[in-house]
Amino acid sequence: MKVLVIEDSATTRRIIKKNLAAFNLTDIEEAENGEEALAKLDGIDIVLTDWNMPVMDGLTMVKTIRANPKYKDLPIMMITSQAAKKEVIEALKNGVNGYIVKPFTAATLAEKVKGLLARCNPVSEAE
Ligand SMILES: [Mg+2]
Repeated sequence: MKVLVIEDSATTRRIIKKNLAAFNLTDIEEAENGEEALAKLDGIDIVLTDWNMPVMDGLTMVKTIRANPKYKDLPIMMITSQAAKKEVIEALKNGVNGYIVKPFTAATLAEKVKGLLARCNPVSEAE
């Protein structure tokens, strides 16, 4: 199970990685912005992305990913401080499968990521 974490804050990336490791997701690829992430999508099983980032923001990246039929079913979770209902709806409408509002707890991240993996891959959850 390979995870791509896209986040411009190195500190937040470290926190996310640490929290993922706590439930055995240790195969993690990182990117600092959407553009960098687009070049790293091959072989990725789940994407966890920030919204606000320089170069290419998360929503633009999600739209670009979903425009490629190859990635139409790739699970994408947005982790962001953009918490207005309007923003959540916009993200979901553009192909985001799950949403976590910052600041988040380790328990929330675990629960949401497990839930997303179960929904997207009901047979073989997080191996
Ligand atoms: Mg950011």
